[in-house]
Amino acid sequence: MILFRDIYHLATMNDAGERLTNVNVLIDGPRIADVGPGIAAPEGSRIVDCSSMLMIPGMVNLHHHFYQTLQRNIPPAQNRKLFDWLTTLYDIWANLSPDAIRASTRLACAELLLTGCTMTSDQMYVFPSEAGTDLIDIEVEAAAGLGIRFHPTRGSMSRGRSQGGLPPDVVVQTADEILRDSERLIDAYHDPEPFAMTRIALSPCSPFSVDADLMRDTAELARDRGVLLHTHLAETEDENEFCLKEYGVRPVGLMESLDWLGDDVWFAHCVHLEENELDLLAGTGTGVSHCPTSNMRLSSGVARVPEMLERGAKVGLGVDGSASNDSSDMLGELRICLLAHLLTWGPRAITADEIARMATRGGADVLGRPEIGTIAPGMAADLALFDMSRIGYAGALTDPLAAIMYAGFDHRASYTVVNGEIVVEEGRLVRASEEEIAADGNEASRRMLEDAGVDTSWMRSA
Ligand SMILES: [Zn+2]
Repeated sequence: MILFRDIYHLATMNDAGERLTNVNVLIDGPRIADVGPGIAAPEGSRIVDCSSMLMIPGMVNLHHHFYQTLQRNIPPAQNRKLFDWLTTLYDIWANLSPDAIRASTRLACAELLLTGCTMTSDQMYVFPSEAGTDLIDIEVEAAAGLGIRFHPTRGSMSRGRSQGGLPPDVVVQTADEILRDSERLIDAYHDPEPFAMTRIALSPCSPFSVDADLMRDTAELARDRGVLLHTHLAETEDENEFCLKEYGVRPVGLMESLDWLGDDVWFAHCVHLEENELDLLAGTGTGVSHCPTSNMRLSSGVARVPEMLERGAKVGLGVDGSASNDSSDMLGELRICLLAHLLTWGPRAITADEIARMATRGGADVLGRPEIGTIAPGMAADLALFDMSRIGYAGALTDPLAAIMYAGFDHRASYTVVNGEIVVEEGRLVRASEEEIAADGNEASRRMLEDAGVDTSWMRSA
């Protein structure tokens, strides 16, 4: 057992939004055993002094593409909007290898854990024929090695350039290959039980890289097997135009016609929505992964999140792939979210409390995890702790929860706990070496970029 003793400030994220001070939290295996003042530690327990710590439930990342950590900040993809950005990158992604997937998964998961994220999704949708068929298997193994709770999604692209899609034909697969591999992954890794460490979801990439038949067949398979569905939606004006031209409807209308709305579906982005589409998402319990940094980076727009929350829609946060963020800084995403909405919709649009709730309980709700996202007895022991005695928070402690969004310049968690295990301790990974992960990431990045003919002359030698 582990006792987190004398916690300076605790944001429970329970229904009442209770905050507690000077309390203890006892965890027993994967669960929180007790929360309150004066709880004693049974003999042999580990004790962690939390007298300067803010404790929140671990944050949940709803959207990522781990492999893109190897293409952060590359000059040809700076200053581009989505469609140009994608066509620039597809040719680089065609060089993905098993080693690149391992290195990028470790890099992304390390950054997420170090910034207080305890459960993440990932969408892997580029399967170059030469890279083999076990790229998601490699992700599962690498994520488990670092100790993060993981919802990998089996992405897919079936509509290459010769079929009117955006990706080159060399990175797309046939519907048959995609559906067979989706079933294989569900059989191998999906754990439907509460407290599961790994759950699979299915995620055709987007309306412009997958045809309607595959979207429909994927939904049927997911419902047959009881797994969630995920895709990109309504990210840009270009996508709206594509859907109107190709299908005669806007993206949400297309999804409705394909039986792709419901509480087993979540969409990344949802930037360009009209009133009735906001109503439809909220009314059907369809989840949204809001990705503010990525939407700013690609000049896509700002999602109408305050209106989604008003309607009771299920919304969480996603850092999105690292070619459009360009980091996996979970806490940083909350700050960007706060500032983006205050700027776009006005000073009363959203509060720091609402954003913290979205990033924790909100995300867990989207992924169908009622046992995660609240600090209370019986709930999952997924926790993030931040040291509020750091210089960046000095002068900001009248509201310690809001302080981690309004103030601070170092987004590193002091402790991150997943499934009852301390995986970040005093701001460092417990199970792996950060230096090694960074060096491996740089090496894998260099190989991919050189193969694609990108200028790497300024890259630092290991
Ligand atoms: Zn994405």
